Amino acid sequence: MEDRKLAIQIENLIYKWPKQNRNLLNISSINIYEGEQIFLVGPSGSGKSTLLNLIAGILVPNQGTIKIRGIVINELPGYKRDLYRVNHIGFIFQQFNLIPYLSIEENVLLPCLLSCRREQNEPGPVKEKARQLLEELDLPQDIWNKKVRQLSIGQQQRVAAARALIGRPDIIVADEPTSSLDYDRRVSFLKVLMKQCSQQNTTLLFVSHDLNLASQFSRTINLTEINSECHG
Ligand code: ADP
Ligand code: MG
Repeated sequence: MEDRKLAIQIENLIYKWPKQNRNLLNISSINIYEGEQIFLVGPSGSGKSTLLNLIAGILVPNQGTIKIRGIVINELPGYKRDLYRVNHIGFIFQQFNLIPYLSIEENVLLPCLLSCRREQNEPGPVKEKARQLLEELDLPQDIWNKKVRQLSIGQQQRVAAARALIGRPDIIVADEPTSSLDYDRRVSFLKVLMKQCSQQNTTLLFVSHDLNLASQFSRTINLTEINSECHG
């Protein structure tokens, strides 16, 4: 256990949205180890998305430290946090945030255009890796040139997963990416995502309000239990 490296370490975190009169998050500690597959659960409004945005360096806490692989990201200037995120973190947004006028393949390759590290992490050509991921995620070759705005929600979700996985980021954070799918499709999507994460030793932090999914994961963190402020 002691040899395990920490992927995400949070200490004494306090976060308050500007103009809100009380803290949303007050968390004394979260430790997530490399390769773990974590299910972060909490009711709507409890601060799950805010916490993911803090971990990804999109937001900065009012107090406390957020270490990603030993680096205190909240002390980095904004441009370095952005660089850190594109190099090390794959983010699957709730609304996917794909680029609608680009093709499936172009969307998946985007992180490798923005980050040399992501490109260099792949042993072979990134285009081949993109195609391999798309195939494994059940997106067949005949649609790779389609614009993503022409796709179903389920297909867009799998493109977002491929985009997050390419270039072997250290961590994938996923913000309720399955909320618009029925239960069976949620579980099958999760299985593919987890298989890919474990193949490349990527730590997965997956957020949902649906406790039924918890059994698929190696560990569950309940936000209401670790947050000393009470919300949601
Ligand atoms: P969850 O993802 O668990 O549903 P969020 O992190 O999205 O929760 O939101 C938690 C609370 O934070 C919301 O109820 C709202 O009060 C506040 N909040 C979220 N986003 C913003 C924002 N952009 N500006 C101000 N307050 C916000
Ligand atoms: Mg949310």
